[in-house]
Amino acid sequence: MNKRISALTHEEVIEAISAFLESPPDGTPAEVIEAFSSMGSKQIIPPRLFLETVRQAPVAISITDERARILYANDAFEELTGYSSDEIVGKNESVLSSQSTPAQVYQDLWQTIQKKQVWKGRLINHTKLKQEYVAELTISPVLNAHGEIAYFLGMHRDITELHRLERRLTFQKDLTETALNAVPMVIALLSSDGRVILDNYAYKALEGDFRGVEPAQVFLEALQQQIQFDLEAACRAHGKHRLFTNIELRLDPPAGTSPRWFTCSAVRLAELDEAVQHYFKKAAESPDSILLVANEVTQSRHRINEARLNMIRANMAEQQLVQTMREAISAAMFKLQVPLNVIKAALSMPRNRADSEALFEALQQALASGDEAMESLHAALPLQNLEQQTQVNINEVVHEVLRMSTEQLLAAGIVVDWRPTTVLPAVNGRVNAIRGMIKYLLDNAIQAVHEAKKELQEIRIETCSDGDDVVITIIDNGVGIPAPMMLRVFEPFFCGWEQPGKHAGMGLTMAQEVALSHGGVVELDPDFLGGCRVYARLPIHGPGDN
Ligand code: FAD
Repeated sequence: MNKRISALTHEEVIEAISAFLESPPDGTPAEVIEAFSSMGSKQIIPPRLFLETVRQAPVAISITDERARILYANDAFEELTGYSSDEIVGKNESVLSSQSTPAQVYQDLWQTIQKKQVWKGRLINHTKLKQEYVAELTISPVLNAHGEIAYFLGMHRDITELHRLERRLTFQKDLTETALNAVPMVIALLSSDGRVILDNYAYKALEGDFRGVEPAQVFLEALQQQIQFDLEAACRAHGKHRLFTNIELRLDPPAGTSPRWFTCSAVRLAELDEAVQHYFKKAAESPDSILLVANEVTQSRHRINEARLNMIRANMAEQQLVQTMREAISAAMFKLQVPLNVIKAALSMPRNRADSEALFEALQQALASGDEAMESLHAALPLQNLEQQTQVNINEVVHEVLRMSTEQLLAAGIVVDWRPTTVLPAVNGRVNAIRGMIKYLLDNAIQAVHEAKKELQEIRIETCSDGDDVVITIIDNGVGIPAPMMLRVFEPFFCGWEQPGKHAGMGLTMAQEVALSHGGVVELDPDFLGGCRVYARLPIHGPGDN
């Protein structure tokens, strides 16, 4: 049978607390030491006063034996638990347990204090009237002269309100986090140096799609290009205005996957609603951070693009018709010019006989009707549309040309490796003319690989910016161009194809004309082996720019 547990005498209480104060175990929270130290010790203040201070301390103090049976409880303990000192002495601290604390917590508590270490944690207690409260408890072992556990000193306070508040905050935080992760928008909190402080699932998914390239950087670069957005300056700016709203951006993900469109908005953290600010501020060191929100609109953009592409197709077909007529008439003029020149030369020769006079007249008539025919051909030349200059996204134009040529490429069994530079500066130019230029170059590449009849037919298209230029590179593994022909291929009506078909030998001439009219150039790489590499270089600031 257990021996009856009796309350500690005053001397024993003073001794227990003094022993604790003399060598507080490692890990004793500073506030505990401070609370007791402020009471003094028996050497400094009289024992009665010391005891009185412990009794009246604002925190619930209890002293137990090594099995947690209560030997002493102060006033705050009585008040908090509802048990009088007489009722509680001799009982185990477990009477305070509401049976809601997980057993693992108790296991941890006991394992810690039995190792003569301090335990601090939260338990769900209940009072004598079974009212639950959250107790923040610190237990310190008190050792005897032999270093064995003599008592446990427990201090606890009611932190129910604090706990509730914390729970509410956590709940709110979880709610915000869940909402952030559930929305399909890409959300990222950025510091002024472009670091991502916080992001959501949609952002992480985009990171995966971009094969590890930080999406924020891609967005920032595109914003810089499009609206000269300067993150650092924006972070420093003050005032209650959004930095930008619904800017549509086209991003060309690395590794040649299809382009993606986003409408993008940004706002400074300091200008957000207080509750939202609270959530983000936990992560952001500075209120000058920026919240970037991007909504993917690729699907709707595809639909718009499809309609646009159909218009472009119709436009290009019309353009091509005009071009074909121009080519045919120019060819006729070119060919007519040769006999006319011969006649002119003959006419300029001296004539001395009457029969040569008749020939002279006949030739003159022939020349006059030849000149007339030339003039009518000139007049029949269809006019080329004069096109306005705009900001041209070269990636977009190449992509359109590729889509328009899909059937042709599939039919020829050609593999296209399309590698756009993720963010390319816009070129100031005539979009239809540039589109035509790219189409000429691509058509040539298709013909070249077709004629080479290799097992693997391949065309690679790359874009990049090079200083003040944008360069489009088209590489094919076709028949190639022999060195002596490198210059001649740019001559009008020069046709070096084995099967000329519809080709009139004007493609490269026209492509070069478009490039030159933009202040750029089309060049062939003379050192490229195993096919052909063509560069079309267009300056960002077109010829009309200042
Ligand atoms: P118990 O059967 O008492 O114990 C549950 C588990 O705790 C056991 O499975 C075991 O892992 C461990 N355990 C219990 N006693 C011992 C022991 N003597 N040696 C080793 N392991 C043991 N509990 C509260 O709920 N609220 C309090 O405010 C509180 N204050 C305490 C203050 C002090 C100073 C001390 C020393 C303990 C205090 N405890 C408190 C813990 C309490 O003594 C009980 O262990 C706990 O309440 C669980 O009681 P139980 O009856 O549910 O289970």
